Amino acid sequence: MERTMMLRNALRPLARGYATSVTGFGREVEGFVGAVGNTPLIRLNKLSEETGCNILAKAEFMSPGGSIKDRAALYLVKDAEEKGLIRPGGTVVEGTAGNTGIGLAHVCRSKGYKCVIYMPDTQSQEKIDLLRMLGADVRPVPAVAFDNPQNYNHQAARYAKSLDNAVWTNQFDNTANRGAHILTTGPEIWEQTNGGQLDAFICATGTGGTLAGVTRYLTEKSNGRVEAWLADPPGSVLYRLIEHGKAEREGTGSITEGIGQGRVTSNLAPDLSLLTGALHIPDSESIKMVYRLLDEEGLYVGASSALNVVAAAELAKKKGKGKTIVTVLCDGAYRYQARLFSRVWLESKGLVNAIPERLQKQYIVLP
Ligand code: PMP
Repeated sequence: MERTMMLRNALRPLARGYATSVTGFGREVEGFVGAVGNTPLIRLNKLSEETGCNILAKAEFMSPGGSIKDRAALYLVKDAEEKGLIRPGGTVVEGTAGNTGIGLAHVCRSKGYKCVIYMPDTQSQEKIDLLRMLGADVRPVPAVAFDNPQNYNHQAARYAKSLDNAVWTNQFDNTANRGAHILTTGPEIWEQTNGGQLDAFICATGTGGTLAGVTRYLTEKSNGRVEAWLADPPGSVLYRLIEHGKAEREGTGSITEGIGQGRVTSNLAPDLSLLTGALHIPDSESIKMVYRLLDEEGLYVGASSALNVVAAAELAKKKGKGKTIVTVLCDGAYRYQARLFSRVWLESKGLVNAIPERLQKQYIVLP
Protein backbone atom coordinates (compact mmCIF):
# COMPACT_ATOMS: atom_id res chain seq x y z
CA MET A 1 0.00 0.00 0.00
CA GLU A 2 2.76 2.33 1.08
CA ARG A 3 4.68 1.58 -2.08
CA THR A 4 1.64 2.27 -4.29
CA MET A 5 1.21 5.68 -2.66
CA MET A 6 4.87 6.50 -3.25
CA LEU A 7 4.62 5.38 -6.83
CA ARG A 8 1.49 7.50 -7.38
CA ASN A 9 3.19 10.56 -5.92
CA ALA A 10 6.19 10.03 -8.14
CA LEU A 11 3.93 9.74 -11.19
CA ARG A 12 1.79 12.78 -10.33
CA PRO A 13 3.65 15.27 -12.59
CA LEU A 14 2.88 13.01 -15.53
CA ALA A 15 -0.83 13.17 -14.81
CA ARG A 16 -1.15 16.95 -15.06
CA GLY A 17 -3.82 17.90 -17.57
CA TYR A 18 -5.11 14.37 -17.99
CA ALA A 19 -8.43 12.99 -16.81
CA THR A 20 -7.14 10.68 -14.11
CA SER A 21 -10.05 10.69 -11.72
CA VAL A 22 -11.74 7.31 -11.79
CA THR A 23 -14.92 8.71 -10.27
CA GLY A 24 -15.04 11.29 -13.10
CA PHE A 25 -16.09 8.52 -15.45
CA GLY A 26 -18.79 7.18 -13.18
CA ARG A 27 -19.39 3.50 -12.57
CA GLU A 28 -19.89 0.71 -15.05
CA VAL A 29 -22.45 1.33 -17.77
CA GLU A 30 -24.94 -1.12 -19.17
CA GLY A 31 -23.94 -2.47 -22.56
CA PHE A 32 -23.48 -0.52 -25.78
CA VAL A 33 -26.36 1.84 -25.09
CA GLY A 34 -24.95 2.77 -21.69
CA ALA A 35 -21.72 3.84 -23.35
CA VAL A 36 -23.38 6.31 -25.74
CA GLY A 37 -22.80 9.97 -24.87
CA ASN A 38 -20.78 11.48 -22.03
CA THR A 39 -18.02 12.36 -24.44
CA PRO A 40 -15.10 14.60 -23.43
CA LEU A 41 -15.14 18.32 -24.23
CA ILE A 42 -11.75 18.96 -25.80
CA ARG A 43 -10.07 22.38 -25.70
CA LEU A 44 -8.43 23.01 -29.07
CA ASN A 45 -5.27 24.60 -27.81
CA LYS A 46 -3.74 26.11 -30.96
CA LEU A 47 -6.97 27.63 -32.21
CA SER A 48 -7.79 28.92 -28.75
CA GLU A 49 -4.41 30.65 -28.60
CA GLU A 50 -4.79 32.00 -32.11
CA THR A 51 -8.22 33.51 -31.45
CA GLY A 52 -7.75 34.50 -27.81
CA CYS A 53 -10.91 32.52 -27.06
CA ASN A 54 -11.66 29.10 -25.67
CA ILE A 55 -12.55 26.83 -28.58
CA LEU A 56 -14.06 23.66 -27.17
CA ALA A 57 -15.24 20.60 -29.11
CA LYS A 58 -17.37 17.63 -28.02
CA ALA A 59 -15.54 14.45 -28.99
CA GLU A 60 -18.43 12.53 -30.55
CA PHE A 61 -15.99 10.38 -32.51
CA MET A 62 -15.38 8.68 -29.15
CA SER A 63 -18.94 7.35 -28.96
CA PRO A 64 -19.00 3.51 -29.19
CA GLY A 65 -20.45 3.54 -32.73
CA GLY A 66 -17.98 6.25 -33.74
CA SER A 67 -20.25 9.25 -34.28
CA ILE A 68 -22.70 11.82 -32.98
CA LYS A 69 -25.49 9.76 -34.53
CA ASP A 70 -25.28 7.06 -31.84
CA ARG A 71 -27.29 9.43 -29.66
CA ALA A 72 -30.03 9.93 -32.25
CA ALA A 73 -30.12 6.20 -33.08
CA LEU A 74 -30.55 5.29 -29.42
CA TYR A 75 -33.34 7.80 -28.80
CA LEU A 76 -35.18 6.95 -32.03
CA VAL A 77 -35.29 3.31 -30.91
CA LYS A 78 -36.21 4.26 -27.32
CA ASP A 79 -39.03 6.41 -28.68
CA ALA A 80 -40.38 3.50 -30.73
CA GLU A 81 -40.21 1.25 -27.66
CA GLU A 82 -41.95 3.76 -25.43
CA LYS A 83 -44.73 4.33 -27.95
CA GLY A 84 -45.19 0.57 -28.26
CA LEU A 85 -44.31 0.67 -31.96
CA ILE A 86 -41.79 -2.13 -31.60
CA ARG A 87 -41.67 -5.20 -29.38
CA PRO A 88 -38.85 -7.68 -28.66
CA GLY A 89 -37.60 -9.31 -31.84
CA GLY A 90 -38.97 -6.50 -34.03
CA THR A 91 -37.39 -4.72 -36.98
CA VAL A 92 -36.00 -1.20 -37.23
CA VAL A 93 -36.02 0.23 -40.76
CA GLU A 94 -34.28 3.45 -41.80
CA GLY A 95 -33.24 5.21 -44.97
CA THR A 96 -29.66 6.35 -44.43
CA ALA A 97 -26.32 6.26 -46.12
CA GLY A 98 -24.24 7.06 -43.13
CA ASN A 99 -23.70 7.37 -39.44
CA THR A 100 -27.33 6.95 -38.37
CA GLY A 101 -27.41 3.54 -40.01
CA ILE A 102 -24.21 2.54 -38.23
CA GLY A 103 -25.59 3.79 -34.89
CA LEU A 104 -28.89 1.98 -35.47
CA ALA A 105 -27.13 -1.26 -36.47
CA HIS A 106 -25.17 -1.20 -33.19
CA VAL A 107 -28.21 -0.32 -31.08
CA CYS A 108 -30.28 -3.03 -32.79
CA ARG A 109 -27.64 -5.69 -32.16
CA SER A 110 -27.36 -4.68 -28.53
CA LYS A 111 -31.14 -4.74 -28.03
CA GLY A 112 -31.90 -7.79 -30.17
CA TYR A 113 -33.79 -6.08 -33.02
CA LYS A 114 -33.36 -6.70 -36.73
CA CYS A 115 -32.06 -3.71 -38.68
CA VAL A 116 -32.90 -2.97 -42.33
CA ILE A 117 -31.14 -0.09 -44.06
CA TYR A 118 -32.23 1.38 -47.42
CA MET A 119 -29.61 3.52 -49.12
CA PRO A 120 -28.93 5.01 -52.57
CA ASP A 121 -26.85 2.61 -54.69
CA THR A 122 -24.25 5.34 -55.22
CA GLN A 123 -22.76 4.75 -51.76
CA SER A 124 -19.29 3.30 -51.22
CA GLN A 125 -18.78 -0.43 -50.82
CA GLU A 126 -17.06 0.25 -47.45
CA LYS A 127 -20.26 1.69 -46.02
CA ILE A 128 -22.32 -1.25 -47.26
CA ASP A 129 -19.75 -3.72 -45.93
CA LEU A 130 -19.57 -2.07 -42.51
CA LEU A 131 -23.36 -2.09 -42.09
CA ARG A 132 -23.46 -5.75 -43.12
CA MET A 133 -20.69 -6.61 -40.66
CA LEU A 134 -22.81 -4.97 -37.98
CA GLY A 135 -25.61 -7.36 -38.86
CA ALA A 136 -27.83 -5.00 -40.87
CA ASP A 137 -29.81 -6.08 -43.93
CA VAL A 138 -28.60 -3.48 -46.45
CA ARG A 139 -30.76 -2.67 -49.47
CA PRO A 140 -29.13 -0.39 -52.05
CA VAL A 141 -31.82 1.13 -54.32
CA PRO A 142 -31.59 3.46 -57.35
CA ALA A 143 -30.61 7.00 -56.36
CA VAL A 144 -33.67 9.09 -57.24
CA ALA A 145 -35.00 12.43 -55.97
CA PHE A 146 -37.06 12.75 -52.79
CA ASP A 147 -40.27 13.42 -54.73
CA ASN A 148 -39.95 10.06 -56.51
CA PRO A 149 -41.81 7.28 -54.64
CA GLN A 150 -38.80 5.00 -55.24
CA ASN A 151 -36.53 7.28 -53.18
CA TYR A 152 -34.77 5.26 -50.45
CA ASN A 153 -36.60 7.05 -47.63
CA HIS A 154 -40.04 6.25 -49.04
CA GLN A 155 -39.01 2.66 -49.68
CA ALA A 156 -37.90 2.37 -46.04
CA ALA A 157 -41.23 3.79 -44.84
CA ARG A 158 -43.26 1.42 -47.04
CA TYR A 159 -41.25 -1.63 -46.07
CA ALA A 160 -41.69 -0.94 -42.34
CA LYS A 161 -45.43 -0.55 -42.87
CA SER A 162 -45.61 -3.87 -44.68
CA LEU A 163 -44.13 -5.78 -41.73
CA ASP A 164 -45.61 -6.73 -38.41
CA ASN A 165 -43.67 -5.39 -35.38
CA ALA A 166 -41.50 -2.96 -37.32
CA VAL A 167 -40.80 0.75 -37.21
CA TRP A 168 -39.44 3.33 -39.67
CA THR A 169 -37.36 5.53 -37.41
CA ASN A 170 -37.53 8.54 -39.79
CA GLN A 171 -34.50 10.42 -38.46
CA PHE A 172 -35.20 13.63 -40.39
CA ASP A 173 -38.68 14.31 -39.09
CA ASN A 174 -38.98 12.25 -35.93
CA THR A 175 -38.20 14.72 -33.16
CA ALA A 176 -36.95 12.01 -30.81
CA ASN A 177 -33.69 12.76 -32.65
CA ARG A 178 -33.70 16.38 -31.40
CA GLY A 179 -34.84 15.06 -28.02
CA ALA A 180 -31.62 13.05 -27.66
CA HIS A 181 -29.64 16.29 -27.72
CA ILE A 182 -32.00 18.13 -25.36
CA LEU A 183 -31.62 15.27 -22.91
CA THR A 184 -27.91 14.48 -23.30
CA THR A 185 -25.63 16.68 -25.45
CA GLY A 186 -27.00 20.02 -24.19
CA PRO A 187 -26.79 19.16 -20.47
CA GLU A 188 -23.31 17.64 -20.93
CA ILE A 189 -22.05 20.86 -22.54
CA TRP A 190 -23.62 22.90 -19.74
CA GLU A 191 -21.95 20.80 -17.03
CA GLN A 192 -18.61 20.53 -18.81
CA THR A 193 -18.39 24.33 -19.09
CA ASN A 194 -18.73 24.66 -15.35
CA GLY A 195 -22.42 25.43 -15.28
CA GLY A 196 -22.90 27.17 -18.59
CA GLN A 197 -19.76 29.28 -18.86
CA LEU A 198 -19.92 29.48 -22.61
CA ASP A 199 -20.92 32.26 -24.97
CA ALA A 200 -21.97 30.40 -28.09
CA PHE A 201 -22.58 27.02 -29.66
CA ILE A 202 -22.16 26.42 -33.40
CA CYS A 203 -22.46 23.37 -35.64
CA ALA A 204 -23.63 22.15 -39.04
CA THR A 205 -26.85 20.23 -39.66
CA GLY A 206 -27.89 17.11 -41.50
CA THR A 207 -31.20 16.24 -39.89
CA GLY A 208 -30.77 19.27 -37.63
CA GLY A 209 -31.20 17.16 -34.49
CA THR A 210 -27.90 18.16 -32.92
CA LEU A 211 -28.14 21.90 -33.56
CA ALA A 212 -31.82 22.13 -32.65
CA GLY A 213 -31.60 20.07 -29.45
CA VAL A 214 -28.46 21.74 -28.12
CA THR A 215 -29.78 25.18 -29.09
CA ARG A 216 -33.07 24.60 -27.30
CA TYR A 217 -31.38 23.36 -24.13
CA LEU A 218 -28.68 26.03 -23.90
CA THR A 219 -31.02 28.90 -24.83
CA GLU A 220 -33.58 27.97 -22.19
CA LYS A 221 -31.06 27.08 -19.49
CA SER A 222 -29.20 30.40 -19.97
CA ASN A 223 -32.35 32.51 -20.49
CA GLY A 224 -31.12 33.40 -23.95
CA ARG A 225 -27.59 34.44 -22.90
CA VAL A 226 -25.84 31.65 -24.82
CA GLU A 227 -26.05 32.21 -28.57
CA ALA A 228 -26.51 29.42 -31.11
CA TRP A 229 -25.28 29.58 -34.71
CA LEU A 230 -25.52 27.38 -37.79
CA ALA A 231 -22.40 26.39 -39.74
CA ASP A 232 -23.41 25.52 -43.30
CA PRO A 233 -21.55 23.77 -46.17
CA PRO A 234 -21.84 24.64 -49.89
CA GLY A 235 -25.03 23.35 -51.52
CA SER A 236 -27.24 23.83 -48.46
CA VAL A 237 -30.20 26.23 -48.38
CA LEU A 238 -30.13 27.02 -44.66
CA TYR A 239 -27.39 29.67 -44.65
CA ARG A 240 -29.38 31.97 -46.94
CA LEU A 241 -32.61 31.14 -45.15
CA ILE A 242 -31.18 32.27 -41.81
CA GLU A 243 -29.13 35.21 -43.05
CA HIS A 244 -31.39 36.50 -45.84
CA GLY A 245 -34.80 34.92 -45.23
CA LYS A 246 -34.82 32.86 -48.44
CA ALA A 247 -34.26 29.08 -48.68
CA GLU A 248 -31.85 29.13 -51.64
CA ARG A 249 -28.69 27.16 -52.20
CA GLU A 250 -25.38 28.86 -51.46
CA GLY A 251 -22.76 27.28 -53.71
CA THR A 252 -22.99 23.80 -55.22
CA GLY A 253 -22.02 20.37 -53.83
CA SER A 254 -19.60 19.81 -50.98
CA ILE A 255 -16.96 17.25 -50.01
CA THR A 256 -18.48 17.13 -46.53
CA GLU A 257 -20.78 14.18 -45.86
CA GLY A 258 -23.83 13.97 -43.64
CA ILE A 259 -24.46 17.72 -43.57
CA GLY A 260 -26.17 20.35 -45.71
CA GLN A 261 -29.95 20.53 -46.22
CA GLY A 262 -32.46 21.40 -48.87
CA ARG A 263 -35.34 21.98 -46.45
CA VAL A 264 -36.25 22.73 -42.84
CA THR A 265 -36.80 19.35 -41.18
CA SER A 266 -39.27 18.80 -38.35
CA ASN A 267 -36.26 18.46 -36.04
CA LEU A 268 -34.93 21.91 -36.91
CA ALA A 269 -38.24 23.76 -37.30
CA PRO A 270 -39.09 24.37 -33.61
CA ASP A 271 -35.70 25.96 -32.88
CA LEU A 272 -34.85 27.77 -36.11
CA SER A 273 -35.99 31.12 -34.69
CA LEU A 274 -33.63 30.75 -31.71
CA LEU A 275 -30.54 30.93 -33.93
CA THR A 276 -28.55 34.15 -33.91
CA GLY A 277 -27.03 33.65 -37.34
CA ALA A 278 -25.31 31.35 -39.82
CA LEU A 279 -21.81 31.07 -41.30
CA HIS A 280 -21.14 29.62 -44.75
CA ILE A 281 -17.93 27.58 -44.79
CA PRO A 282 -16.31 26.72 -48.14
CA ASP A 283 -14.75 23.28 -48.66
CA SER A 284 -11.27 24.79 -49.05
CA GLU A 285 -11.44 25.90 -45.39
CA SER A 286 -12.86 22.59 -44.17
CA ILE A 287 -10.22 20.43 -45.88
CA LYS A 288 -7.41 22.64 -44.60
CA MET A 289 -8.79 22.24 -41.08
CA VAL A 290 -8.88 18.42 -41.42
CA TYR A 291 -5.12 18.60 -41.87
CA ARG A 292 -4.53 21.31 -39.25
CA LEU A 293 -6.41 19.35 -36.59
CA LEU A 294 -4.23 16.35 -37.31
CA ASP A 295 -1.02 18.31 -37.26
CA GLU A 296 -1.72 20.69 -34.38
CA GLU A 297 -4.01 18.73 -32.11
CA GLY A 298 -3.45 15.10 -33.09
CA LEU A 299 -7.16 14.79 -33.92
CA TYR A 300 -8.21 12.55 -36.82
CA VAL A 301 -11.70 13.77 -37.70
CA GLY A 302 -13.98 13.93 -40.73
CA ALA A 303 -14.80 16.96 -42.85
CA SER A 304 -18.02 17.91 -41.04
CA SER A 305 -16.07 18.12 -37.77
CA ALA A 306 -13.42 20.24 -39.48
CA LEU A 307 -16.12 22.53 -40.90
CA ASN A 308 -17.54 22.95 -37.40
CA VAL A 309 -14.13 23.93 -36.05
CA VAL A 310 -13.55 26.46 -38.85
CA ALA A 311 -16.92 27.97 -37.99
CA ALA A 312 -16.15 28.03 -34.26
CA ALA A 313 -12.87 29.87 -34.91
CA GLU A 314 -14.63 32.34 -37.22
CA LEU A 315 -17.31 32.98 -34.66
CA ALA A 316 -14.61 33.48 -32.01
CA LYS A 317 -13.01 36.16 -34.19
CA LYS A 318 -16.41 37.79 -34.72
CA LYS A 319 -17.21 37.84 -30.99
CA GLY A 320 -13.82 39.05 -29.79
CA LYS A 321 -11.26 37.79 -27.29
CA GLY A 322 -12.11 36.05 -24.04
CA LYS A 323 -15.21 34.19 -25.27
CA THR A 324 -15.91 30.49 -25.03
CA ILE A 325 -17.26 28.83 -28.17
CA VAL A 326 -18.39 25.20 -28.25
CA THR A 327 -18.81 22.89 -31.24
CA VAL A 328 -18.85 19.15 -32.01
CA LEU A 329 -16.43 16.71 -33.61
CA CYS A 330 -19.05 14.52 -35.29
CA ASP A 331 -16.97 11.51 -36.34
CA GLY A 332 -13.46 10.26 -37.13
CA ALA A 333 -11.70 10.42 -40.50
CA TYR A 334 -11.56 6.62 -40.78
CA ARG A 335 -14.76 6.47 -42.84
CA TYR A 336 -13.41 8.94 -45.39
CA GLN A 337 -9.67 8.35 -45.41
CA ALA A 338 -9.49 6.87 -48.92
CA ARG A 339 -10.70 10.27 -50.17
CA LEU A 340 -9.49 12.88 -47.68
CA PHE A 341 -5.87 11.69 -47.81
CA SER A 342 -5.68 10.80 -51.52
CA ARG A 343 -3.82 13.21 -53.80
CA VAL A 344 -5.78 12.07 -56.86
CA TRP A 345 -9.09 12.65 -55.14
CA LEU A 346 -8.08 16.00 -53.69
CA GLU A 347 -6.89 17.09 -57.15
CA SER A 348 -10.16 16.00 -58.71
CA LYS A 349 -11.93 18.34 -56.29
CA GLY A 350 -9.45 21.17 -56.87
CA LEU A 351 -8.55 21.17 -53.18
CA VAL A 352 -4.87 20.20 -52.98
CA ASN A 353 -3.71 23.79 -52.91
CA ALA A 354 -6.06 24.63 -50.06
CA ILE A 355 -3.73 22.53 -47.89
CA PRO A 356 -0.45 24.21 -46.84
CA GLU A 357 2.50 22.61 -48.62
CA ARG A 358 4.17 21.30 -45.47
CA LEU A 359 0.98 19.52 -44.48
CA GLN A 360 0.52 18.13 -48.00
CA LYS A 361 3.98 16.60 -47.86
CA GLN A 362 3.46 15.05 -44.48
CA TYR A 363 -0.12 13.84 -44.57
CA ILE A 364 -1.23 13.16 -48.15
CA VAL A 365 0.02 9.60 -48.01
CA LEU A 366 -2.34 7.96 -50.53
CA PRO A 367 -1.89 8.27 -54.32
N1 PMP B 1 -21.66 15.11 -39.33
C1 PMP B 1 -21.79 13.86 -39.78
C2 PMP B 1 -20.55 13.14 -40.24
C3 PMP B 1 -23.05 13.24 -39.84
O1 PMP B 1 -23.16 11.98 -40.29
C4 PMP B 1 -24.19 13.97 -39.41
C5 PMP B 1 -25.54 13.34 -39.48
N2 PMP B 1 -26.11 13.27 -40.75
C6 PMP B 1 -24.02 15.29 -38.96
C7 PMP B 1 -22.73 15.82 -38.92
C8 PMP B 1 -25.19 16.18 -38.59
O2 PMP B 1 -25.93 15.78 -37.48
P1 PMP B 1 -27.48 16.03 -37.39
O3 PMP B 1 -28.18 14.98 -38.20
O4 PMP B 1 -27.78 15.91 -35.94
O5 PMP B 1 -27.80 17.40 -37.91
